[in-house]
Amino acid sequence: GKVLVSGANGFIATWVVRTLLEQGFAVRGAVRSVEKCGHLRDTFAAYGDKLELVVVPDITQEGAFDEAVEGVDAIEHMASPVHLNAENPDEIIVPTIKGTLSMLNSAMKHGKYVKRVVLTSSTAAVLQDDSEPKTFSELDWNEQVLQQISEKGSVASGHTKYRAAKVRGERAAWEFAEKHKDKLGWDLVVLNPPYVFGPTIHAVSSPEALNLSTREFYKIFTQPSTPATLQAGNCWVDVRDLASAQVLALVTTSAGGERIIISAGPWVWQDWLDAAPDSSKYQKGISGAGKDAVYKIQFNASKSARLLGMTAYRSKEETVRDTMADWEVRGW
Ligand code: NDP
Repeated sequence: GKVLVSGANGFIATWVVRTLLEQGFAVRGAVRSVEKCGHLRDTFAAYGDKLELVVVPDITQEGAFDEAVEGVDAIEHMASPVHLNAENPDEIIVPTIKGTLSMLNSAMKHGKYVKRVVLTSSTAAVLQDDSEPKTFSELDWNEQVLQQISEKGSVASGHTKYRAAKVRGERAAWEFAEKHKDKLGWDLVVLNPPYVFGPTIHAVSSPEALNLSTREFYKIFTQPSTPATLQAGNCWVDVRDLASAQVLALVTTSAGGERIIISAGPWVWQDWLDAAPDSSKYQKGISGAGKDAVYKIQFNASKSARLLGMTAYRSKEETVRDTMADWEVRGW
């Protein structure tokens, strides 16, 4: 089959493209400009015309993906703004919603062979900050950020605006699927990963040009952190494990209509410094600081095990070792 991957040049998406090609799928990657094609073409040159690239300059335009969806059997929608720089919350919320709806509309109207659409949402759409440690599941929705946005507007934090965009984008997708269910030839699967870490294979010119999650990871290793930061955390999944899940979500019939958390487990930043191979080049934090840290946010990932068979995840040691090897190769 052939799979359309939007935002194909992104951190996670490039791994998804690779996993699809390795598993024998043909891929149509959609990117925003011709300049974004070169690295993908070079990286996957061995696959020849199994990888097609198309330019969709503005995903928020209605009909943006009308041509891109033609002839594909499934879609991985991964193009979405990921940054903390929005002034007005709508700067990030609107393109997130519109990008998703334009993809779903094109899939409905022109995706004659499309059977499955996988949307990459986030645990940002699931978790809520609390003073007590909590374990969240797919039943949880981050209502808290919507409330914060309506109260604070522009002065809300960048994280709050990003999280609100993920909630609104995912909700819009479920509403679309519900509203049009009688005329859709496909069903929707939503994956909700927490922080995604691991080695990069997309085009990255410098550490500053890394995507948000791997940039934060790099920063912890290369800049001093306060004890409070070292004891702060969340959950994570290695990008290669998430890429496997994204492909399983395409091919697993019973996953249709499901929202699925993909999480390897919790961390605080100090854990990553402790799990790293010994190197004088990087920060070590405060050895042992992770021991008495509390994992405040955890996810129940049993649904991913049950539906997708996601039971084995890479360890922190493996993720950080391979990430450092990637930095080494890049000469950072
Ligand atoms: P990247 O920033 O590496 O990739 C984002 C992709 O989306 C790029 O291809 C980018 O294109 C495209 N994009 C961004 N804004 C727009 C826009 N306005 N119009 C069209 N395309 C746009 O991020 P990730 O790979 O990390 O993220 C991919 C998805 O995974 C996102 O939906 C993100 O929310 C989600 N996610 C990521 C997590 C993480 O920790 N990394 C955690 C949970 C979810 P361009 O290169 O042209 O800017």
